[in-house]
Amino acid sequence: MFDYHVHSEFSVDCRVPMIESCRAAIASGVTEIAFTDHLDHEPADPGFGYYRPDAYFEAIARVRDEAGDRLTVLAGVEMDFNRKIAPEVEAFLGRHGHRYDLVIGSCHYQADGSLIFPEAFDGKSADDIFLPYFDQVQAAVETGWFDTIGHLDLPKRYAPASHRDYDPARYRDRLRPIFAAMIARGVAFEINTSGLRQTPKTSMPGPAVVRWYADAGGRLITIGTDSHAAQTVGAGIAKTLDMLELCGIDTVAAFTARRRRQVPIERLRRVAVRI
Ligand SMILES: [Zn+2]
Ligand SMILES: [Zn+2]
Repeated sequence: MFDYHVHSEFSVDCRVPMIESCRAAIASGVTEIAFTDHLDHEPADPGFGYYRPDAYFEAIARVRDEAGDRLTVLAGVEMDFNRKIAPEVEAFLGRHGHRYDLVIGSCHYQADGSLIFPEAFDGKSADDIFLPYFDQVQAAVETGWFDTIGHLDLPKRYAPASHRDYDPARYRDRLRPIFAAMIARGVAFEINTSGLRQTPKTSMPGPAVVRWYADAGGRLITIGTDSHAAQTVGAGIAKTLDMLELCGIDTVAAFTARRRRQVPIERLRRVAVRI
């Protein structure tokens, strides 16, 4: 199993040393882990200025030594993206992009600069939040800078009780051009399993969205737990493999040095059974 979205002490909102998550990964049958710490260029973000790439890569080298051949440790990053900060994102990737195995592009902000949090829904309809969010996601895909897109329908995770009737079918037409852009550019999206353990009780995105993507001809999917605690490393991944197969996806995307390969889900299961 691959867990391609794990945070460590290099994220402003996480205290877990990499080695602890590596131990948890090995214990839960994960064979590849990607540390994808937040990189925020939005000045209002609590993580602005927090990320230290050189220290991060030194820590990756240390845990690779410690994990040895028990676990493949990938260098990743979760880059926040919105149109306003695109020049800074591009500049960073120009300097450091080649050092990573995997770059996730994630949208966390509304176009007006406020975070997608429950308060963002005050006085607004679901469309007021989701449609501009998908515009940002589409812009992220079209840059071609990212290997995979994080939590495609994040607003459902933060929707307050008043807005919890999210139905992805409402946005099916809006997702079509996003899928077309992903397929044309070879950009994947992730199944973020944190939604399974949090309010929406479904992954981001969930099965219906995956099915529409597969029907459109898409096959590039990564899986990540978005863990900010060691005990959630690997959580929900086996279930996600089942879900992908039911939706007509039989491989997951894997990355080394930003190069993608497709790994059959069947092979991942054999490894999991052996452990
Ligand atoms: Zn995120
Ligand atoms: Zn994350």
